[in-house]
Amino acid sequence: MVGGGDDCRFNMADSLWAVKLVFPGETRLALGEVKMSNQRMKKICIINTGGTIGMRETANGLRPEPGFLIERMSQMPELNQEPMPEFEIVEYDPLIDSSNMVPEQWLKIAHDIQQRYFDYSGFVVIHGTDTMAYTASALPFILGPIAKPIILTGSQLPLSQVRSDARENLKTAMLLAGNYNIPEVCLLFGDQLLRGCRSTKSSATSFDAFESPNFPALGTIGTSIDIASRGMLKPAELNHLPIAKSIQSYEMATFRLFPGMSTDVLKNVLQTPLKALIVESYGVGNGPSTSPDFLAALQSAADNGIVIVSCSQCKSAYVQQTDYETGRALLNAGLVSGRDMTLEAAIAKLHFLFSNYDSVDEIKRLMGTDLAGELTDRNQG
Ligand code: ASP
Repeated sequence: MVGGGDDCRFNMADSLWAVKLVFPGETRLALGEVKMSNQRMKKICIINTGGTIGMRETANGLRPEPGFLIERMSQMPELNQEPMPEFEIVEYDPLIDSSNMVPEQWLKIAHDIQQRYFDYSGFVVIHGTDTMAYTASALPFILGPIAKPIILTGSQLPLSQVRSDARENLKTAMLLAGNYNIPEVCLLFGDQLLRGCRSTKSSATSFDAFESPNFPALGTIGTSIDIASRGMLKPAELNHLPIAKSIQSYEMATFRLFPGMSTDVLKNVLQTPLKALIVESYGVGNGPSTSPDFLAALQSAADNGIVIVSCSQCKSAYVQQTDYETGRALLNAGLVSGRDMTLEAAIAKLHFLFSNYDSVDEIKRLMGTDLAGELTDRNQG
């Protein structure tokens, strides 16, 4: 710990850096812990998994650099000013570009939060933007109800660059985690705070890179930070100790419908060991009802225990398979409605359900049930 006092400054020389393996044998991920503290009341934990925010330019393009984010943060005096919370940083080793993220690492993040849950007022998870919405979708399933903010953030440009969006994202995420009563896994980016399991990356370059197409933003960030009313937020589960439930990778695929698609390609995708298929259907969940081959391929896969979920290829949509004859054809072939879930939430949920349930019928039922705020349950097919 760095010494106390209201005016305490970060001092890297006094900070503590320890590297230890978190789950020896289970994972090669290692963990570095850096403590920078100034004895304020609120204390948050920042878990740095990697991403552009702490990357450096190399001959092969941007790559995460160990210790770089921490070094840069130590040069930001505003992190040591009220109302910034005290913070401690856990840095993963290796840091990763989130394109390399896998469900087993979602579980590691959940474990790391769970182990430290009572030591902090909230958590910031630093993450690459490419798969941040997947991690933000998975964590609510793995952790269950919570009473503290868990805020995922990152940036489009590295913190080291002059025009970077990293500083504002980082500072706002830290303020939210330390000072706000938001008992949810959220994604903070640019001027929006989104429910994690409703978020999707919609721009590769904009500083407002994420959207929540089927659920209102939980907060807007401008000259003031405006958080949604209590009724919109999940209730705080004060007596619930988050348990990092199991999650691992299962064989699944997505199949996007388009005019002229090949049923033979679909049949190949449907080969074992496939456990689940997400059909990216048209509009409110429609598909080619005049193609008996196509429908028979889906039906036979569904009859053989493959969970087939219909998610709309429209960003803003609610799958109601009874609206059109073309939707009912997919319903009759055994497709389950993904309602208004994002593709990210549907994928995270399928990995989660297969990791925790044996019965295919139960998994199908739960795909249409709201477990973590990921879908709107209108109670229709
Ligand atoms: N490829 C980077 C990542 O997802 C992109 C970013 O962080 O913006 O880690």
